[in-house]
Amino acid sequence: MQRIVVIGAGQGGLQAAMSLRQEGFAGAVTLIGAEPGLPYQRPPLSKAYLKDGDGARLDLRPAAFFDKNEITLVSGVRAERIDREGREVHAGGTVYPYDHLILATGTRNLRPPIPGLERALDLRTLEDAARLRGELARPRRIAIIGGGFIGLEFAAVARAAGHEVTVAEAAPRLMARVLSPELSARFLCLHEGMGTRVLLGRPVSAVTDEGITLADGSGIAADLVILAAGVVPNVELAAEAGLDVANGVAVDGELLTCDPSISALGDCASFPDPVTGARIRLESVQAATDHARHIARRLMKGAGAPYAAVPWFWSDQADWKLQIAGLAGPGDESLALGPDAVLRLRDGVLSAVETVNDAKTHMQARKLLASPNPPSRAELEACGFDLAALAKERAAA
Ligand SMILES: Cc1cc2nc3c(=O)[nH]c(=O)nc-3n(C[C@H](O)[C@H](O)[C@H](O)COP(=O)(O)OP(=O)(O)OC[C@H]3O[C@@H](n4cnc5c(N)ncnc54)[C@H](O)[C@@H]3O)c2cc1C
Repeated sequence: MQRIVVIGAGQGGLQAAMSLRQEGFAGAVTLIGAEPGLPYQRPPLSKAYLKDGDGARLDLRPAAFFDKNEITLVSGVRAERIDREGREVHAGGTVYPYDHLILATGTRNLRPPIPGLERALDLRTLEDAARLRGELARPRRIAIIGGGFIGLEFAAVARAAGHEVTVAEAAPRLMARVLSPELSARFLCLHEGMGTRVLLGRPVSAVTDEGITLADGSGIAADLVILAAGVVPNVELAAEAGLDVANGVAVDGELLTCDPSISALGDCASFPDPVTGARIRLESVQAATDHARHIARRLMKGAGAPYAAVPWFWSDQADWKLQIAGLAGPGDESLALGPDAVLRLRDGVLSAVETVNDAKTHMQARKLLASPNPPSRAELEACGFDLAALAKERAAA
C-alpha cells in the first residue's frame, strides 16, 4: 500500500493520519479537509473558547507537525467525488489517487423544518463559535433550540456571563437521548438554579424577528437564537459513490465499508455495537480517535479482534463535569448511588455509569466495562456498589 487518503481533517481524520505514522506506514498520507486552517478540537467551542476566544489553543497539532511527519494537509478544500473504480478522490480541481481511503467527514447540524430557522445561529465550527462569541459581547436575550449537551453547555456559559437565557427542548427531559432521568433532573436544577429558563416538552414551531414561537403558540422574546437540536452525519459523498449508508456510512466490526478499500470512522460512521451487535453511531472524541487507531492498526498489521473500545463521553456545564462510561439504551434501568452517580443496567448487567465531578469512579467504570464480563447486579450488590472495591477484587481474583 502506497497512498492513503483521508477525507475530513477533524478529530478522527487527523488521528488516523497520526496513527498511520505511529504504526509505521511509510507511504503518502493526504488529509483533505473542507475547513480552513489546521485541524482543531471542537469540544472547547461550547466551553472555554466562548470565554477566552483563544482559537490558536484549539489546534490539535502545530503546522510543523505535518511537515515533520510528511502528512500532506489540504485544508479549505471539499472532496466532491469518490471514483471507486479508479480509486481516486476529486477535490478542488485536483485528483488524489488512493490505495486506501478513510472517510472522516463528521456531522453537520440537523435543521428541523422550522419556519424562520435561517435566523438561528449554529455552533459546530470554529467560525460559528467566533461569530457567537462576538454576539455575546453585549447583553442578549438568548433562546436555545435544544436541551442536549451543546445547547446546555452554551446556556451555562451565556448565563454565567449575565445574558438572559431560555432553553426550549421538545423532549420531556434534558439530554434524554443518552442520560438517565435522575441526572437529567439534577442538571435541570443546575440550569434553573443559574437562572436559565428551561422549557421541557415544548417544541419550537417558528423563529421570528422577535424570538421563537413554541408549538402551543406562546412566544419567547429573543434577539439571539441558537440551533442545537442534534446533528446528521455527512454521508452524501459515500452514498453518491454507492457505499452502504444506514444512519451513517455503514461499516463492519473492522470499521470497513462494503468496499474493502474504504474505511469510515467517527461521527459519520455507523458500526456494530460490540456489546449488543446493534448498529450505532457515536458523536464523541473517544469514538473518533479510537476508531482511527483501530483502522491504522488494521491497515498496518492486518485484521485482529473487531473494534470493541468502551465508549466514554464528557460534558462541562458550569462547574459540573458530567462523565459517561459505557452506552446505555433507552430502556436500561437506572440505579442512583447518590445525587452524582447513576449506574445503568441492561438485563441485570452494568451497561453504563454516569458521574458528576467524580473522575475516579468514571475511570473505575471504564475498566469494569472493558472486561469481557461486566459486573452483574448481584456482583455490584455484593460489594456495596463500590466500583473501586469491585475492580480491586476482580484484579486480585
Ligand atoms: C460545540 C461542540 C462541543 C462538543 N463537545 C464534546 C465533548 O465535550 N466531548 C466529546 O466527546 N465530544 C464533543 N463534541 C463532539 C466531537 O467534537 C466530535 O464527536 C468529534 O469531533 C468527531 O470527530 P470526527 O473526526 O468524526 O468529525 P469532525 O471533528 O466533525 O471532523 C469532520 C471534518 O470533516 C470535514 N468534511 C466533511 N465533509 C467533507 C468533504 N466532503 N471534504 C473534506 N472535508 C469534509 C468537516 O468540515 C469537518 O472538519 C462536541 C462537538 C461540538 C460541535
